[in-house]
Amino acid sequence: MKDNVAAAKAALAHLEIDENAAAIKSKSRDFFWYSPVLKERLDHVVADFVVSPKSEAEVIEVLKVCYDHDVPVTTRGAGTGNYGQAMPLAGGCVMHLRYLNRVKSVMPGRVVVEPGCLLKDLDSECKAQSGQEIRMFSSTWATATIGGFIAGGSGGVGSVHWGSLRDLGNIIRLRVVTMEEQPRILEFTGEELARVSHAYGTNGIITELEMPLAPAYEWIDIFVASDDFMAATHFADELANEDGILLKLASVYEAPTAHAYFTRVKPHVDEGTHLIGLMVAPQSMDGFLTFLNRREDMRMIYRSDDHDWPRAPGPVFEYGWNHTTLRALKVEPSITYLQVRYAFPDHLELIAKMRDDFSPEVLQHLEAIRMNGKVGFAGLSMVKFTTEERLDEIVRLHEEAGALIFNPHRYTLEEGGRQTVDDTQLAFKREADPKGLLNPGKMIAWDDPDWDYARMYAWPGMKAAE
Ligand code: FAD
Repeated sequence: MKDNVAAAKAALAHLEIDENAAAIKSKSRDFFWYSPVLKERLDHVVADFVVSPKSEAEVIEVLKVCYDHDVPVTTRGAGTGNYGQAMPLAGGCVMHLRYLNRVKSVMPGRVVVEPGCLLKDLDSECKAQSGQEIRMFSSTWATATIGGFIAGGSGGVGSVHWGSLRDLGNIIRLRVVTMEEQPRILEFTGEELARVSHAYGTNGIITELEMPLAPAYEWIDIFVASDDFMAATHFADELANEDGILLKLASVYEAPTAHAYFTRVKPHVDEGTHLIGLMVAPQSMDGFLTFLNRREDMRMIYRSDDHDWPRAPGPVFEYGWNHTTLRALKVEPSITYLQVRYAFPDHLELIAKMRDDFSPEVLQHLEAIRMNGKVGFAGLSMVKFTTEERLDEIVRLHEEAGALIFNPHRYTLEEGGRQTVDDTQLAFKREADPKGLLNPGKMIAWDDPDWDYARMYAWPGMKAAE
């Protein structure tokens, strides 16, 4: 492998290659350390070199050279993923797409953009050119790329209205480069999108995206407080079901999350306060206030356009999605999390049951999302970690109760998803990455088609710690 790497590096010497050991190490990591299970297993992972192509032609050159020399390639957007998705388990090349960051054209209802564009830059360009914004983004809006969001993310801020990335219409077109002797450029729409979206770059590299847009608004950030967790959850659920009120975010945080972990919110709540975070379109504020005023048990404690907090809390979405876990981790390093799906129509009963069974070992953090037209919740529950065995038991008990878990303590596509082989992605990998060099170790179906998921998969090809 050493000779192959040296040969590939020499062949790519005219491109921007990072030689600095510290830089290579940091670009070989993502936010895998949210999980004590992954921290234990992936901490040593490091690439041999990092290359930053400046165009699609250079991406093709990297893929071709690495194909010729049997060097694995793991693509990096900004490395904010949580499951070691962007980590080169076998070493080799990290291909960093930061220079492919152009917004190519903004049209009514759609934008064409390169993958390395930051979500925040994409949003501000769309807004400046046309008064539009992207429909949804990960709460890592300020730091993550659109390519990484499509290849590694699932949904986020905006999903309360628009559903998830996998829902039809939320991605229009992807341009993809393969890793073959002669890399091909393919354009995917419709059914073909599922081949590479949320495939962790295991079967093709996205070099251009066409994404749908929505009208941009000066969203009003709001915090509502409640003394009753299930009342707060019902409030968020009913609000998200109000057809005339436009929301971009509806999060629920079980006490004492706000008091214990949200430093700037703490002076305004007490330990028993359950919190709701909202983004409401300005034209929906009258409707929202009418809805709120019908509830005597809910108190609006903050609105971004009219408040007297000496220290403003910053964007409310940076308290939601996986930012909640980040804030908790900073205060209490033993915190980790689960990703739970509470689907309509049993979502409210299931949430109440899981809380009864596990609080305070597991604190509820919920994000309202639309699933097949019905409002349900994504749970990013915070877990006080003790042992791997206990974590696995909590996962099992959730699943037995009917709460689907997307396990964030696994680095493979299947284990972080529905524990089943994605035939579409596997079939396309056979075609587009015949040597299995793209982000190796992340697709169990490729390496071990008979795997039964009885225990955590440990990819045998993982480079040993040096
Ligand atoms: P990376 O981490 O660099 O890459 C993600 C995956 O995509 C990797 O497997 C990588 O190899 C692959 N990839 C990257 N670019 C390409 C490409 N051009 N072609 C093919 N494959 C590619 N995720 C959500 O979905 N919703 C959230 O709300 C959310 N909130 C988060 C909050 C915090 C605090 C953190 C730490 C993470 C959160 N995430 C969330 C996870 C992650 O931030 C997002 O999915 C983000 O959009 C990933 O973008 P990135 O540029 O960092 O991708």
